Amino acid sequence: MGLVVQKYGGSSVADAEGIKRVAKRIVDAKKNGNQVVVVVSAMGDTTDELIDLAEQVSPIPAGREFDMLLTAGERISMALLAMAIKNLGHEAQSFTGSQAGVITDSVHNKARIIDVTPGRIRTALDEGNIAIVAGFQGVSHDKKDITTLGRGGSDTTAVALAAALDAEVCEIYTDVDGVFTADPRVVKKARKIDWISFEDMLELAASGSKVLLHRCVEYARRYNIPIHVRSSFSGLRGTWVSNEPQGDQKVEHAIISGVAHDVSEAKVTVVGVPDKPGEAAAIFRTIANAEVNIDMVVQNVSAASTGLTDISFTLPKAEGRKAIDALERNRGVIGFDSLRYDDQIAKISLVGAGMKTNPGVTAGFFEALSDAGVNIELISTSEIRISVVTRADDVNEAVRAVHTAFGLDSDSDEAVVYGGTGR
Ligand code: ASP
Ligand code: MG
Repeated sequence: MGLVVQKYGGSSVADAEGIKRVAKRIVDAKKNGNQVVVVVSAMGDTTDELIDLAEQVSPIPAGREFDMLLTAGERISMALLAMAIKNLGHEAQSFTGSQAGVITDSVHNKARIIDVTPGRIRTALDEGNIAIVAGFQGVSHDKKDITTLGRGGSDTTAVALAAALDAEVCEIYTDVDGVFTADPRVVKKARKIDWISFEDMLELAASGSKVLLHRCVEYARRYNIPIHVRSSFSGLRGTWVSNEPQGDQKVEHAIISGVAHDVSEAKVTVVGVPDKPGEAAAIFRTIANAEVNIDMVVQNVSAASTGLTDISFTLPKAEGRKAIDALERNRGVIGFDSLRYDDQIAKISLVGAGMKTNPGVTAGFFEALSDAGVNIELISTSEIRISVVTRADDVNEAVRAVHTAFGLDSDSDEAVVYGGTGR
């Protein structure tokens, strides 16, 4: 008998009908002879609504109480799902992250899983139950406080449980048919990928593809847990993410796996920085001390006459205020003329291991953007990725142009988006 972990996202359990539909699917997996562990997200836009509510009572909600509030969303869906399964004549028990043994560090709002001790889940399974686990949450190892894993964290819960329970597969059910060569909400001609390597998937996730979270893929790669991303609406076979393709998983020998885009970042430019050793270090130490993660960094050549240069970097919009405040506070120590903050940017990335061995990918990327009349503001590359920053207004057109230029457009079915408000 195999053990499968299934994860259902918020749009799959958006209402009572959705919960009943998902319950049937879970029961089918059990009837096929599997032990089934289900990780569930909060219903629909519940998490966003809870965040709105928190902001109405306190301008900067964060920390312990915020986590306590947000985990309520997953508690609602887990209990309802267990009830719906029982209604179909099968035994189910729901567990909070803490009850399921998801142990995290104590960083509220973005905790990391440090251990999983799923004793109660094992017992529940051995007694013939389907185990339902609240996603996105855990308990801190030291203070035993409730923590959350950051937005979209249920995917990570699912993979972590799959690893701890030695599951055959972690199935991530979502509102699209799998991982596409671009966001199907933007590119109607995006193609479903049959199989993708952990490496390419990691780069896509890091570049803004929202179908799987970066941390979840990282975890899956570390423990070698194959992920099957598929729709809870269609029953079609989705995308396999793993080390090596298995059986009839089709590998397309494309140079490029996909085009990702991200509009969640902002750009900070530190203007008039003295061009001498230690300046970049001082700027980024300041940013690091403020616990802000940065993405791209670009330093321009200094003007010979002034000996001053500009340094730009990108960071999540949500951390923009913190970074600017920290830099302003240290202006005297760092030494710069002014700061510019721009949150109307987008990042567009081309990902694929094939680019290592195929010259001309960078040129083709820039040509496609230029043909679409899109201006490039920053560039960064890794071995298997090229990213550019453009104006936010240009993003959809740029993604489509690049997708077409690299021959990724499908000639048959249009990509279907089954649910979700995209909020
Ligand atoms: N409900 C949480 C969120 O909306 C976690 C998740 O869905 O994975 O971010
Ligand atoms: Mg999600």
